[in-house]
Amino acid sequence: MPIHLFDSLERTLKPLTPAHPDGVFRFYNCGPTVYAPAHIGNFRTFVVNDVLRRLLELEFGANKVKHVRNLTDVDDRTIGQTQKEKRPLAEITKKWTDKFHADCDALNCLRPHAEPTATGYIKEQVNMIEVLMEKGNAYRAADGSVYFKLESFPGYGALSRIKERELKITNIVADADHKDSVSDFALWKAYKPEEDGDVKWPGPRGASAGRPGWHIECSAMSKSLLGDTIDLHSGGVDLLFPHHENEIAQSECCNGTTFAHHWYHSEHLLVEGTTMSKSKGNYYTLTDLVEKGYSPMAVRYALLMGHPRKQLNFMLDSLRAAESALATLRTFRAAMADSTGLVNVYASVVAALHDDLNTPAALGALFTAINHSKPSDVNAALFDRAMFALGFDLTAPTAPKAEVPAAITALAATRWAAKQAKDFATADALRKELTAAGWSMLDSKTDYKLEPHKKA
Ligand SMILES: [Zn+2]
Repeated sequence: MPIHLFDSLERTLKPLTPAHPDGVFRFYNCGPTVYAPAHIGNFRTFVVNDVLRRLLELEFGANKVKHVRNLTDVDDRTIGQTQKEKRPLAEITKKWTDKFHADCDALNCLRPHAEPTATGYIKEQVNMIEVLMEKGNAYRAADGSVYFKLESFPGYGALSRIKERELKITNIVADADHKDSVSDFALWKAYKPEEDGDVKWPGPRGASAGRPGWHIECSAMSKSLLGDTIDLHSGGVDLLFPHHENEIAQSECCNGTTFAHHWYHSEHLLVEGTTMSKSKGNYYTLTDLVEKGYSPMAVRYALLMGHPRKQLNFMLDSLRAAESALATLRTFRAAMADSTGLVNVYASVVAALHDDLNTPAALGALFTAINHSKPSDVNAALFDRAMFALGFDLTAPTAPKAEVPAAITALAATRWAAKQAKDFATADALRKELTAAGWSMLDSKTDYKLEPHKKA
């Protein structure tokens, strides 16, 4: 069965096939905005898209897939950060680009074949805006900015199914007074010295100097590197509206043809049952989780435990489960040696992934197969291929065992004894002491485990 994936535009499962006669599958995935570390919600999207990239390579061949993922290195947030830190834009975006690359490598995400930056494609963006102005899809506003004229594109709203009335309400922004209609969106933002510092480029013909709007960046980079029509465009569901809707409008009006044959969106991530936020204390970057003692490979595993098109409730318990699942896989693989057994783990894993990227079903199929087989019955080469599809590097470092100080061990032993003796008041008091010292005690019926937690 070919890869079937839900298409957010047509709202149905569709097979993925390269449309271009050269047989190369063209895949564009919106990348990060490099002004801060990406959080694990962002990484859910990137890990899911990495599995997709791997599947495409397995299906069409490694040299028949072109994967582009951009870096947004100029927009309101990156500029806001330069103003806050009083440091040059390039310095800030380089710092967070390097961090993003390190995190992606740790999570075993394949690098895209091209990773364009918005600042590297200013000329291409300006060209596109000029074409849109010539065609009557865009206009210069009084302040020298350029806006996309929404009513010039009757197809607007097809992806998000947003109604005209909701659109007007959603799109009202501070600079609405410069626009012909409140729902028009910015393609080019005229330079404002008090907000933009020294960030500016010469504008499209007839417009002021300034910088591109966020949406045109992806349209221009995609066109430059993949051509007018791509096979698959993906991103997190938070980008569906307005970002992707606006990309369609810009690209289709400029190029006069279909922008993307297929749209794919992965869902939000919740942490411990609620939306992630710094104030709730459930906001995690990869570094936060590594400091808590979890391995990046376990984070990757845990991010694939839920169906990508459903909200995933990410819990620290899932990371513990993921560590132990990976340990099982490592032991099983070691026992397999170079077995040429007949059990084909790859077939069952890839069948689940081809069915709308059902990663939990793939993990289920993997464990069903190994629970019912002896390692020597399993084909090692095909097992390794299944690991490639899921992106599990079984040679990657496991979670480091935290050194438990002797005083903590003693405290824990005393508390355990108190609990066994049903002296719950003492047990509770000792637990508080452990917490204050930065350790969690995880009780089971017969035993306990000590884990470090991040100090507030
Ligand atoms: Zn984008």
